[in-house]
Amino acid sequence: MDKKLNNNSTSITADQVLEKMNISWSSELESTSRHLYEKVSRVVPEIEWPFFAPYIEAINILKKEMNAAILAHNYQTPEIFHCISDVRGDSLQLAKEASKVESNIILQCGVHFMAETSKLLNMDKMVLIPSLQAGCSLASSITGKNVRKLKEDNPGIPVVTYVNTSAEVKAESDICCTSSNAADIVNSFDSKKIIFIPDEYLALNVAKETKKEIILWKGRCEVHEEFTPEEIREFRINEPGVQVIAHPECSPSVIAESDFSGSTSTMINWVRKNQPEKVLMVTECSMSDNVSIENPNVDFVRPCNLCPHMKQITLENILESLWNKQYEINIDKDTAERALQSVNNMINL
Ligand code: SF4
Repeated sequence: MDKKLNNNSTSITADQVLEKMNISWSSELESTSRHLYEKVSRVVPEIEWPFFAPYIEAINILKKEMNAAILAHNYQTPEIFHCISDVRGDSLQLAKEASKVESNIILQCGVHFMAETSKLLNMDKMVLIPSLQAGCSLASSITGKNVRKLKEDNPGIPVVTYVNTSAEVKAESDICCTSSNAADIVNSFDSKKIIFIPDEYLALNVAKETKKEIILWKGRCEVHEEFTPEEIREFRINEPGVQVIAHPECSPSVIAESDFSGSTSTMINWVRKNQPEKVLMVTECSMSDNVSIENPNVDFVRPCNLCPHMKQITLENILESLWNKQYEINIDKDTAERALQSVNNMINL
């Protein structure tokens, strides 16, 4: 097989890449990819493997030849998360880990604001995202102009910004936060009032852990806002003994029905540590698949809410992204410097 990288300036499709690399499903590929299939066999039906395996083989060859690192968010599908990625985690973990890898190219399997955060922390590297359609309802709920208006209306009030925002919004903020450190960041200011953007539910959940007056923005995650307290109560009736752990982008009434709440990484650590007999992870559905692979003794109850933006990323467009070096993330210097300051203020705190 001639698998040498033969790139040129014209964009080609994933199937054309497979043809050029002379990769297709065969008994040889079945045998050499067996160790990868075994990783995901609990959640990927065997019948689907002949479709996935050629793309996975091509991506893994190309990323080595190109010295590229693939970052995969916890919400990516298992064949992406477990079979081609070099770094896995939540958005901030990914960006921070990416700065430690010695690769020239970072390919982000996640949504646009995550690729921007990776770029902010790795300005000297080429950062690629496989689909420009991979947005986020929270990130698109607010612009830099909106933040400037909020600051004008509330002079002198610090702005704390959730990482699920564009670089333009981060650049207008005093400090960033994640869902796991949001309350600590808010409490670190002397000011009695804090502007907290853009997630309304996260702001309301943080408000319960602070005495500050929170000025919020009405952005929502379209996946987490779908969960209801009635649904959680129904799960408890149908799945006796189930432990319910919820992401703080859910409404306060859903959090009130849960046994534990935390960021995606905190939820994963909770399952690893507690090994419950049965668990319901109230968050994007692929995460349960990914976590279940590492926790074979835990029974996962799956309320299947998928993020349509995360699901824009596929093996095909990852292969196209690598081969065609598309789509590159660029942030202008001034915005990048100010946004990075806001991210670094959080990291330093
Ligand atoms: S799950 Fe929600 S917050 Fe995450 S990318 Fe999708 S819409 Fe945005």
